[in-house]
Amino acid sequence: MFSIHDESQIITLLESHGHKKFRYAQVENALYKNLITDFSLIETLPKDIRELLVANCFYTSLTLHSEKTDPEWQTTKFLFKTHDDRMIEAVIMRHLSGRNTLCVSSQAGCPMACSFCATGKLWLIRNLEFYEIIDQIMWAVHHLAREDRKLRNIVYMGMGEPMLNYEHVKKSIHIACNKKKLDLSNRRITVSTCGIAPRIVDFARDFPQVSLAISLHAPNDEARKRIMPVENTYPLDVLMSAIDEYVAITNKRVFYEYIMINWVTDRLEYARELGELLKNRLAHVNFIPYNPGEGTDSDGFLPTSKMIIKKFQDTLDSYGIPSTVRHTMGDDIDAACGQLALKEEGKSLATETGKTIKKPQE
Ligand code: SAH
Repeated sequence: MFSIHDESQIITLLESHGHKKFRYAQVENALYKNLITDFSLIETLPKDIRELLVANCFYTSLTLHSEKTDPEWQTTKFLFKTHDDRMIEAVIMRHLSGRNTLCVSSQAGCPMACSFCATGKLWLIRNLEFYEIIDQIMWAVHHLAREDRKLRNIVYMGMGEPMLNYEHVKKSIHIACNKKKLDLSNRRITVSTCGIAPRIVDFARDFPQVSLAISLHAPNDEARKRIMPVENTYPLDVLMSAIDEYVAITNKRVFYEYIMINWVTDRLEYARELGELLKNRLAHVNFIPYNPGEGTDSDGFLPTSKMIIKKFQDTLDSYGIPSTVRHTMGDDIDAACGQLALKEEGKSLATETGKTIKKPQE
C-alpha cells in the first residue's frame, strides 16, 4: 500500500494496468479540488480504476489522537498518531484578517535539543515522510472547509528541524504549491530553521519565493550556545554568511525569531547587539515571549515582561529594523509546538523503557 499523494507511484500503478496518464489528472482533481477521501466515490473514474486505488492506496497515514480548539476559536491543535504510533502535532491558526495558517511538523521529535523547546526533549524519533506532512495539511484543509474557510498559509514551525528532513519537506512544498493540487502561493509558505547553514543556500536556490524564518534567539555566539547546541556546529558567522547568500539569491526579507526569556535572552545589551547584527540586512524580527510549557527547561525559564520586549523593539526601531511581537496564540492549549506530543510521547516512552525519556546513544 502507498499514499494517494505519491504521484509517481500512482502513475506507475495506472500505467502498469494499461491506463492512460490522463487518469491521474482525474485522481488529482478529485483529491485536491473536490476533496474526496473515498476513492470509490471518484465518479470521473471507471470502476476498475477506483477498485485499483482502493486495493493499493491509503488516503491518510495519520489517525487523530486528540483535537482541541481554544474558546475564542483562534487555534485548533491536532495531535496525530503515525502508523508506527509516534505523536506529531499540527496547529491551525485563524487570524482576524480571515487568513488561516497551518503550522506543520516535519519530524517526530527533534535532534536539535534547544533548551527551551519541548520537542527537543524527545530527541529525534524519526523523519516524517513527505506524505505524512501532506496528511497534516489535508487534515487542516478538510477541517477548514467544514467551517467554510480556506487554508492560505503554511509554516514549517511544528515539531522537528525541517532543514534536516529537507527532501521530504521539499516534496511537500511542491505538492502544496502545485497548481493542480493545493495551489497555495509559494510566498505564503514559511520554513523555519534553527540554522542549518548549508541547507539555507540550497533552499534559496530551490525555493526563491518561499519565506525563510531563522530561529536566532540570541545575538552572539556565547549567548546562543547556552540555549542552542546547533551553535557548536554552525556558529553565528557561518549562519549569517549563509543568510547573506540566501538574500543575495532571493532578494527576500528574512524573518528572525527571537525568544524572550527572562534574564537569558533579554539583557538590554543584547538588544543593541541584535541591532548591530541585523542593521544592514533585509530583516524582520519576531519576538516570541517564552511559552513555559510542561517539560521545557527545568532551569525555570520565565517569559520576559512586555515592558522589556517594548525596549527591544524601540532599540531595533532606532536601527531601522522592523519587528513584531508574536501573539502567543493558543498558550492555553499547549500550542507551542511539541508540548502536547511531549506529554503523550513522554507517557509512551516511559512505558516502553520503564523509565523517563533518555537521550539515545550517540
Ligand atoms: N526547528 C525549527 C522549527 C521548529 S520550532 C526552528 O528551530 O526554527 C518553531 C519556533 O518555536 C522556533 O522559533 C522555536 O524556537 C520556537 N519555540 C520552541 N519552544 C518554544 C517555547 N517554549 N516558547 C516559545 N517559542 C518556542
